Amino acid sequence: KLPPRLKREFFVCDDNDKNAGPVIRVMQWNILAQALCHGSDNFILCPKEALHWENRNLRVIEELLQYSPQILCLQEVDKFEFVKENLGKVGYEGIFFPKPDSPCLDFRHHTGPDGCAIFYATDKVKMISQKCIVLEDDGFETNQVCVICTFGIIGNDHTPSFTVAVTHLKAKSGFEELRFSQGSYLLRYLEKMVESGPVIVCGDFNADPKEKVYAAFKASVLGLQSSYTYLSKTKSEPDYTTWKFRGSRRSPGGREESCKTIDYIWHSKHFRPKGILEIPTGEDLGENKLPSLVFPSDHLSLVCDLQLTS
Ligand code: NDP
Ligand code: CA
Repeated sequence: KLPPRLKREFFVCDDNDKNAGPVIRVMQWNILAQALCHGSDNFILCPKEALHWENRNLRVIEELLQYSPQILCLQEVDKFEFVKENLGKVGYEGIFFPKPDSPCLDFRHHTGPDGCAIFYATDKVKMISQKCIVLEDDGFETNQVCVICTFGIIGNDHTPSFTVAVTHLKAKSGFEELRFSQGSYLLRYLEKMVESGPVIVCGDFNADPKEKVYAAFKASVLGLQSSYTYLSKTKSEPDYTTWKFRGSRRSPGGREESCKTIDYIWHSKHFRPKGILEIPTGEDLGENKLPSLVFPSDHLSLVCDLQLTS
């Protein structure tokens, strides 16, 4: 009964590296918390039935499995047990860390707090260590978290282990300084932890490329680059990773359009992007944009093939 899924192709990056190492396919996706899409999100043009869990649940799993990533980095997970059970059937394991005071708990029919999660394909990678942290601002814990895992590649004992971090920074305008502070804390943490080793940082940063936190990631001593800039000749970010309409707080009955790039897959110089899942056109997303019966979140999934260079 649901309409067909979005068809998205992989852009193939130029490749003339002879010292090719193993390729890791990574997904970054804010899956949209079920409690929030019914609660505070106010997606004014989205058909009500598209937000019903019985219409969303399999669409979420379809999206997670469609491209067979080895690592999945997720935000707004308030249905961890559901995702874990379904991905578990096809060989994934996962780690979840809830936000200290999740806004999901404000809503009547919530199913627990939302948080960040990492899933990994147990036939491709093995987890070496895991760490769940609360991001700090000026020495104080905030309501935002990060899951950090170090992985080895199965059957590739000679390649170094690599670290993957997934985070979801504070939302909304007016919190640019807090996002910068949270991002800087995470960078300092990772710098100490991975030293100069391979690292991938995925997240819903809630910050467009003009924000200070973006500049901080770009300038980090970890040597991070944003994978999706490899989609364009000018090495700029895509035009959007989320596109939605919300009811307006300022003018009752009105609506506000939000079309921006706030989700990223950062990788250290040990990796080279080989393939990147293209961003659908505005036309592909349809007149009312996201979420919809076709696509279950207001954020697009990002998927990148990252090759370890030797
Ligand atoms: P955030 O401000 O980071 O946002 C929570 C969610 O709201 C995000 O998932 C975000 O989605 C979504 N969102 C973004 N923009 C809008 C919008 N315009 N309208 C509706 N939803 C939007 O949450 P906090 O973690 O700061 O939590 C907020 C709630 O938690 C408060 O209502 C309060 O109850 C409590 N709280 C607790 C604090 C604590 O330290 N314990 C501190 C502050 C609040 P996306 O990322 O997709 O944009
Ligand atoms: Ca959201």
